[in-house]
Amino acid sequence: MNTISETTNIPVGISACVMGEEVRFNGGHSQSRICRNQLASHFKYQTFCPEVAAGFGIPRPTMRLTGDPQAPSLIFSRTNPDVASENLGQRLTDACQPMLQKCVDLDGFILKKDSPSCGMERVKVYQPSGHPHEQRGAGLFAKALMQQYPNLPIEEDGRLNDAQLRENFVMRVFAHHHFRKEVIEQPSFHHLLQFHSSYKYLLMAHNQVAYRTLGKMLADAHQEPLDKLMESYFEQFMQAISQPASRGAHCNVMQHIMGYLKQSVDSTARQAILTVFEQYRLEEVNLITPMTLLSHYISQNGSDYIRAQRYLEPYPAHLGLRNQV
Ligand code: SF4
Repeated sequence: MNTISETTNIPVGISACVMGEEVRFNGGHSQSRICRNQLASHFKYQTFCPEVAAGFGIPRPTMRLTGDPQAPSLIFSRTNPDVASENLGQRLTDACQPMLQKCVDLDGFILKKDSPSCGMERVKVYQPSGHPHEQRGAGLFAKALMQQYPNLPIEEDGRLNDAQLRENFVMRVFAHHHFRKEVIEQPSFHHLLQFHSSYKYLLMAHNQVAYRTLGKMLADAHQEPLDKLMESYFEQFMQAISQPASRGAHCNVMQHIMGYLKQSVDSTARQAILTVFEQYRLEEVNLITPMTLLSHYISQNGSDYIRAQRYLEPYPAHLGLRNQV
């Protein structure tokens, strides 16, 4: 197994304009520095532009969603009086099919916000009057992607500027990658148990209920067909880690892990570590501070089991994600 810092080339899909490709309606791009710089050292990007794939050309008239927010049509915007307002949705949907098939081996996807094709959420859907509905929708490609790959970590470029959401997305991409490589590509009950064991404390930080439910699922699973068990586990696991963990939940998990140091670290040092946990809980320091301290003691004094916990390093430390949450 590669160490976490050696885990590179994780396949991640991305809207082509976010990577800097000049494919937008006006021939420009919407490059994200976070995607290009911070995350590119571990992600191997595959770019997709549904509108170019559908043959709408560069440049092209702007497009918008219109009609029923649940099942909108895609039309050229009325700001372009020279073009007909035919529904272009089917053309885009047809062009998406080969792209969606290529997503089967991806571990994440970064979409361009607000786009009627790529926007993940809160995309404006217009009424015949020209005013947007209060209810927003998803871009047509984004919606098809989310429906076909419900376990795939998906985020928008804009939301990745939020440190909590960025940390959560990258953690989910690595978890998805680990599951695909360690369980799906080598299916066995033993590998599923090993995966669960290595993610126990991370699960506990994100969702206590799922932590217990998934543990019970595996404990009771001996008669269950393996493919069904893996499918059900993966779905619930990815759902459980889909929201950032709170400071209180992190403190709870770090205190559990401290239990492994009871015999080997003296009470003065343990008290000093607990003081730093409290500083983190009070937002005086960020997660990197208590985690660095805890990881140091665990690497010196922890058992193999606790040292193998992905919670201690869910993604390479040099990405600096825990410096900001
Ligand atoms: S938002 Fe999507 S469809 Fe629009 S230019 Fe970017 S990649 Fe192409």
